[in-house]
Amino acid sequence: MNEALTIDGLTVDFGGFKAVDGFTTVVQKGELRVILGPNGAGKTTLMDLVSGKTASTQGSVHLFGENITNRPEHIIARHGIGRKFQIPSVFRDLTVRQNLEVAASGEPGVFRNLRLHMVAEDRARVEDVIAMTRLEPVLDTVAGELSHGQMQWLELGMLITQQAKVILLDEPTAGMTHAETFRTAEIINEMKGSHTILVVEHDMAFVRKIAERITVMQMGKLLAEGPMEKIETDPKVREAYLGS
Ligand code: ADP
Repeated sequence: MNEALTIDGLTVDFGGFKAVDGFTTVVQKGELRVILGPNGAGKTTLMDLVSGKTASTQGSVHLFGENITNRPEHIIARHGIGRKFQIPSVFRDLTVRQNLEVAASGEPGVFRNLRLHMVAEDRARVEDVIAMTRLEPVLDTVAGELSHGQMQWLELGMLITQQAKVILLDEPTAGMTHAETFRTAEIINEMKGSHTILVVEHDMAFVRKIAERITVMQMGKLLAEGPMEKIETDPKVREAYLGS
């Protein structure tokens, strides 16, 4: 099964206004897909529909062939959709390492006996994520004291250690410095191939650094889809989004 996320004719009707309107796309396993589009295009609503925060009125979402359409949000999370919001949800009083161990053990809140819950495979995953997110220097720092960027990387790392099958990232570089944005691109590039990621992002310089395949939305619909070079030169996209 190479189709990780299959979105078919997805629609939500908010009292006559369709914020997402017959949207269809397929994200392959290991793919990094960027969703672009002007403000109000329906990108966040699309993420809400996929993650179960909002119920759709038509269409379907399948995760590795399993129908997850309109299942409750916590059930969808359990199926393996991991969503990272702009405001991170980490345990602020735990250290970076403890946060990663909580995520790896799959028992948030049971942190005292954490190591007892972790099998060798979990430990290996935590070490891999530490290397990937460059969090080594702050492993013993409590999460509440991290910089904005480190906090974002920790949350991303927690989704990986939780073994999310598809990771949804909503503007991962919002509020980041130039250096933090650069590092985030490096981390995401390292995740390519081994993780399936759907990113909503506005920062075009960042998108150019990470993008493989891009989906452009406009008024809830799919406007264009393809590699960056094709999207950037597409007259429809230039008119709708790039403003020229
Ligand atoms: P984007 O993330 O692309 O900026 P959004 O998904 O946030 O776009 O919003 C798409 C449109 O749907 C906007 O016009 C927004 O006002 C509208 N919208 C979003 N959520 C609701 C809701 N719960 N009820 C009514 N309209 C909504």
